[in-house]
Amino acid sequence: MTQRAPIIDPFGRRIHYVRLSVTDRCNFRCLYCMPDEEVDFLDRSTLLSFEETGRLARVLAQMGVDRIRLTGGEPTVRRGFLDLVRQIAAAKEHGLRDLSMTTNGWNLAELGPALREAGLDRVNISLDTLDRDTFTRITQRDRLAEVLAGIDAVVAMGWLPLKINVVVCKGLNDGEVLSFVEHFAHLPVTIRFIEYMAFGESRFPLVPWSITKARLEERFTLEPVDGPQGSGPASYWRVVGTQVEVGTIGALSSQFCAACNRVRVTADGQLRNCLAYEPNAVSLRDVMRETSSDDDLEWAIRGAILRKPLSHIQLEDGSNSFEGTMVQIGG
Ligand code: SAM
Ligand code: SF4
Repeated sequence: MTQRAPIIDPFGRRIHYVRLSVTDRCNFRCLYCMPDEEVDFLDRSTLLSFEETGRLARVLAQMGVDRIRLTGGEPTVRRGFLDLVRQIAAAKEHGLRDLSMTTNGWNLAELGPALREAGLDRVNISLDTLDRDTFTRITQRDRLAEVLAGIDAVVAMGWLPLKINVVVCKGLNDGEVLSFVEHFAHLPVTIRFIEYMAFGESRFPLVPWSITKARLEERFTLEPVDGPQGSGPASYWRVVGTQVEVGTIGALSSQFCAACNRVRVTADGQLRNCLAYEPNAVSLRDVMRETSSDDDLEWAIRGAILRKPLSHIQLEDGSNSFEGTMVQIGG
């Protein structure tokens, strides 16, 4: 088995987690994620092919990447998605240990078992509300029932603990924080209340985690727990008297850059070192289309990582907006 030296950035951080976007398309139109205007999706020919994605996953695994999370857009809308998962899961023979996906959960009830068979190890599900009307308002799709069925299916499959991502938006769902804990109280579920990040114009005032936590503490006792290994920028608390843990991903109000262990690859194969800041992303797709040498690909990855900034620009200049959109970057 070929092994390559680990990926270490200029600040000594070892990169072993890659968020890999497999499409910029989505069947939902979440208000906080998609722009209002018609979205200009990537032309299919510009996406990494299944073979290119499999090759990239293999070389990354050989370089010590042991976690890959598939994202998008909505990963499951990529045509032939199960085959794609199989191609990526083949990197488990080269050191990949954890293959996961962030999904809106719309078809997990049907797809869950096949995904497991294809090599997926777990999922995070995004769900911002338990109320049908609010769900339809946020996602612009009337599909709460399917997502809840997807959650039931994942629980039945034993993919636990399950992480549920809730983007807290003022005036939309910030009043539901307690309902989420009550709804899932009997299940080993980690509910992560994510601070809204503005991409371009800000659509909602930020609800800082401190406010969400204070709301939870009006009814529940929270005990700090160690986050799952490699959990990155989240902090976790056990909700006493329930099976639920709550956590936060405070991209804006907490300074997690010092421990950053991840990079992103967009659906068209650009390596992005930072969610917030990437003035010169490197196209690994172009490298793969120019050369069949995995050594060249390895060095292109190393060259790209040399540009990883110490911290994201928000922390440097105090501005409050990210460039691009989450579906373009791969959330
Ligand atoms: N479609 C999948 C989903 O919704 O889980 C995967 C892609 S989505 C872009 C990944 C995550 O980004 C989701 O948990 C979503 O809630 C989050 N997200 C999208 N836009 C966001 C924003 N403006 N601020 C914070 N989180 C956001
Ligand atoms: Fe689609 Fe996920 Fe963005 Fe919602 S958050 S629009 S489900 S990509």
